[in-house]
Amino acid sequence: MALFSRRKTIHVDSDVLVVGGGMAGCGATYEARYWGRDLKVVCVEKANIERSGAVAQGLYAINCYMGMQWDENQPEDHVRYARNDLMGLVREDLGYDIARHVDATVHKFEEWGLPIMRDPETGRYQREGKWQIMIHGESYKPIVAEAARKAATEVYNRIMVTHLLMDESKPNRVGGAVGFNVRTGDFYVFRAKAVIVCAGGASHIYKPRAVGEGMGRTWYAPWSSASAYALPILAGAKMTQMENRIVLTRFKDGYGPVGAYFLHLKTYTENAYGEEYESKWYDQTKELVGDYVDRHPVPTCLRNHAFLEEMKAGRGPIRMVTKEAFQDPHKETVGWENFLGMTIGQAVVWASQNIDPKYINPELTTSEPYVMGSHATCSGAWASGPSDYAPDEYQWGYNRMMTVEGLFGAGDTIGGTAHKFSSGSFTEGRIAAKAAVNYVNDLRNEQPRVSEQQYEELQQEIFKPLETYRIGRNEIVAGTVSPSYLLPINGLQRLEKIMDEYVGGISAHYMTNEPLLTRGLELLGMLKEDLAYLGAEDLHQLQRAWELHHRLLASESVTHHTLFRTETRWPGYYYRGDHPKLDDTDWHCFTVSRYDRQSGEWQLEKAPVYHIID
Ligand SMILES: Cc1cc2nc3c(=O)[nH]c(=O)nc-3n(C[C@H](O)[C@H](O)[C@H](O)COP(=O)(O)OP(=O)(O)OC[C@H]3O[C@@H](n4cnc5c(N)ncnc54)[C@H](O)[C@@H]3O)c2cc1C
Repeated sequence: MALFSRRKTIHVDSDVLVVGGGMAGCGATYEARYWGRDLKVVCVEKANIERSGAVAQGLYAINCYMGMQWDENQPEDHVRYARNDLMGLVREDLGYDIARHVDATVHKFEEWGLPIMRDPETGRYQREGKWQIMIHGESYKPIVAEAARKAATEVYNRIMVTHLLMDESKPNRVGGAVGFNVRTGDFYVFRAKAVIVCAGGASHIYKPRAVGEGMGRTWYAPWSSASAYALPILAGAKMTQMENRIVLTRFKDGYGPVGAYFLHLKTYTENAYGEEYESKWYDQTKELVGDYVDRHPVPTCLRNHAFLEEMKAGRGPIRMVTKEAFQDPHKETVGWENFLGMTIGQAVVWASQNIDPKYINPELTTSEPYVMGSHATCSGAWASGPSDYAPDEYQWGYNRMMTVEGLFGAGDTIGGTAHKFSSGSFTEGRIAAKAAVNYVNDLRNEQPRVSEQQYEELQQEIFKPLETYRIGRNEIVAGTVSPSYLLPINGLQRLEKIMDEYVGGISAHYMTNEPLLTRGLELLGMLKEDLAYLGAEDLHQLQRAWELHHRLLASESVTHHTLFRTETRWPGYYYRGDHPKLDDTDWHCFTVSRYDRQSGEWQLEKAPVYHIID
């Protein structure tokens, strides 16, 4: 293979290395330059930061804005809101830290050219809901990326980071990262004093509703491949709340967002017979979760729960009542534009299915589960909190540093802090970068030591699927099924099936229990063994192979956490059939895990939830 024999090894040294140039990564890169004027700040991204990450195709709203300049909300209010939505369990120190800085971030976006809609009467930002403001956001990502590009010493696009490097001069300290260029196949060794992981959430660990030719259509970005979790997990960082996967109610078949419909257009849902159904499930839900059902707003998972129960009772489909709102031409325009800015596929689906929401109420559905730390759930790494606000137990050094020294994170990567969304993720990137710069400055001239042996061993491992394919391909004359290798797509489908059937996916109505989870772990273990035989026919497939490795590790983590928490904390996201009720006596706590790369063992523990805000 001439192409790969020309593969080069490229060494890049930096002070601060940002892995993933999405919202959090751009925030981290921008802020690292602000505090570290003379530092070498490198951002490495598997796509191109101009249009990468979950915001790639634009957004229609910024979902986290306090509006402190107009006294609309205070940071404490946002903590209360997120805590309520997550059924009591959030890292209040981290959430408060983001909320107190997020407005400043949004003001920067506007300064950089992002058009934010204004209320013509008050002159304030146009609110979509209590926390959301409306934007003309098709170019949101390029605008944010420009700030990062100008701040970075270098941006490396098209490099998939596969592993973190460890410093050999000090145990439990990060030393950089390795990856490969998905276009040229060059191998990259990034040595860094501090690493900030901002590599986004995880789609496609559960079987999606859209299969076959439509499988690329998921709610969370299909390219969000769990690197945010796998990279720290492999490095030995502790993770939290990985069981807290998210399930979303969305327009059917296109995953079109419903927020603007509920909040701005004031549409509402009904069952197939035109009946309101949520109140029917009140008593049953109260039995399961107690007073949490009486909170305002009703936690997202509980609204899903009523939807699912109504469907199971045979009164689906659930529809969004759009016919009334769409009679108003302004609302009709807003309804369509809402998709054109961020989920154009939903408009296409409706056109292809003869659905005009002015005359037909469109169907809703619940999505397959995703793992993420920035939306309405809070899976991710266990991080140190802000020094002026975090309880002692949540502080072991620098803000947003994980339990591995020098390793920081932001956005979907960091656990315990739901509802940060795009603006909060960028803000958390800024917070992490400021702390990382302090860390680097405190190191003075100390350099991480990364031996040739460490990265050469990884190089062998990373490119192995190309070799496996090249040799095994000769054993078959046609087709894709080989006795010697497994293609990434087949591995992915096997993973999705295991997670779906054993760990509470769509086909099990999000239900699982101890025997299912235990068997699921066995099957994941077997899949892990087989991944040693992944075959990649080209660099694109090599990227798919490593995305699969990352997804599998994150899936293992989700399964262990789900097994550990013996209660059903979030009905509507998932159910433990053997522990169907919320149990505040034993489980008003965080779940924390650590993976041992050498033994392959997972250790789980509980960590306390501190309620700092009344
Ligand atoms: C459908 C959808 C709708 C949303 N709607 C809204 C909304 O209306 N308002 C709002 O405020 N927020 C919204 N959000 C949330 C918002 O998009 C996320 O909170 C935010 O993007 C998270 O930032 P992040 O940096 O953690 O991840 P991302 O922005 O996804 O960035 C992750 C980056 O890491 C890169 N990467 C991944 N793996 C690797 C690797 N191994 N090596 C190198 N690079 C890697 C990715 O390519 C990507 O650029 C929405 C999200 C989705 C999916």
